[in-house]
Amino acid sequence: MLLNGEWVDRNQKIEVRDPFDNSLIDTVPRACLSDVETVMAAALKGFEIARKMTVYDRAQILFRTGRIVESRLEEFAQVIAREGSKTIREARKESRRCVNTLTISAEEAKRIQGETIPFSSFPGGEKRRGYYERVPIGVVLAITPFNDPLNLVAHKLGPAVAAGNSVVLKPATVTPLSGVKLVEAFLEAGLPPLVIQVLTGFGGEIGDALVADRRPRMISFTGGVEAGLRITKIAGLKKIGMELGSNSPVIVWKDADLEWAAETCVSGAFWAAGQNCIGVQRIYIHQDVYEPFKARFVEITKGYRIGDKLKEDTDMGPLINEGEAKRVEGWIREAEKSGARVLTGGYRTGALLQPTVLENVPKTALIHQEEVFGPTVNLYPVEDADAALAEANSISYGLHAALFTRDVDMAFKLAYGLDCGGVMINDSTDYRLDSMPFGGIKNSGLGREGIRFSLQEMTDPKVICWYLPKS
Ligand code: NAP
Repeated sequence: MLLNGEWVDRNQKIEVRDPFDNSLIDTVPRACLSDVETVMAAALKGFEIARKMTVYDRAQILFRTGRIVESRLEEFAQVIAREGSKTIREARKESRRCVNTLTISAEEAKRIQGETIPFSSFPGGEKRRGYYERVPIGVVLAITPFNDPLNLVAHKLGPAVAAGNSVVLKPATVTPLSGVKLVEAFLEAGLPPLVIQVLTGFGGEIGDALVADRRPRMISFTGGVEAGLRITKIAGLKKIGMELGSNSPVIVWKDADLEWAAETCVSGAFWAAGQNCIGVQRIYIHQDVYEPFKARFVEITKGYRIGDKLKEDTDMGPLINEGEAKRVEGWIREAEKSGARVLTGGYRTGALLQPTVLENVPKTALIHQEEVFGPTVNLYPVEDADAALAEANSISYGLHAALFTRDVDMAFKLAYGLDCGGVMINDSTDYRLDSMPFGGIKNSGLGREGIRFSLQEMTDPKVICWYLPKS
């Protein structure tokens, strides 16, 4: 852990294991409540340092951190692929995206701007001139999930540093190593140690103390709804950014390029073994093309090679642990009992669950209603656009949705009818560029990430107003 400017260890350790073969990769110290006090006191000092750094210096550090990650891309990818669920090819993509996220943060650091205020536009504003600037918010507490252990950390550390804040990172306990390695890169790039700290420990043990502490001015959280709700209840008076789960729908219209739709939706459903907040979970297919789409979708899925994440030709790795694989398998069995048909997959060995396609899934099934966070996808035939929209919107999440059509009018109707944070047209729900506004509605969260948008959340407007009686 990096606490109060120093790397520290503890006798109490947490083992980090590879979910594929349960081999021990490394250990991290198990933080305790007194570490929370240490980290928060140091974060206030760190903020005093950060806010005085020039924008140029912050941007240069971010550019350099990006270059360090780029120069060790394979090392970062190996860590992601070993501690998490991703295959080595998926991990390389995440590492490249992390370089983008840091570079965008460096660029956006230079565009944090205010504007002049036309005081004389209302009675009472006479003889006043002024403007507002966006100033750093203070200490940011960043809490991150296991499924993108590097790039989602960069999405919090990058803008926090760009804005002139200090930041405390609490990475997911099962995948802390990528985040710790990124913090090392920040230090190597010249970030003063008190500005950034990383605390490794169980959310269930230190989470409440971190969240309830009055020193952070913002909590930037990415994770599940359950932890998100708990955080909102005890956070007190501070800003909260919530990037939560989803159950993303896709609509495939009758005139769509079926080959492309099937190919990209298979990837969107099984990326990171389906442990992906924007993974494809429900596909509504126009009844006229249901059968050919289904046949192709199942055919591509059957070709997936699952197994050792570090092998170049593996398409999909294990879930994050055997317990999760059992949970998802249980959801499949529950759906089957109430009438669903498994078209391919459906069974697991240890933490490896076969990529699974279902049809005829009843609306009461957990796998229909909840976020599955596993490699399963449900297919449903639909008669018309209104039915497709009603079904797509019927779930309590709203992060991404996608649609496939060549008809512009239909694309507009569906895109504006889908209730969510982002609609991908002729791409799967899994598409994301790191600079676009990213976040959801309903149970999918509050606020937006995507560097420029995170910077709005991580800064406060400060008004400077001059009274000029002689003007
Ligand atoms: P999680 O169990 O909610 O954990 C997320 C983080 O919160 C971890 O660091 C966890 O620590 C910590 N935590 C747990 N309880 C806490 C508490 N009471 N106080 C403070 N921190 C606490 O989620 P996960 O299983 O790692 O990730 C999967 C979820 O994240 C899915 O729902 C997925 O959709 C969502 N997600 C959303 C996005 C998005 O951008 N919208 C992106 C990726 C993932 P421990 O690890 O120590 O428990």
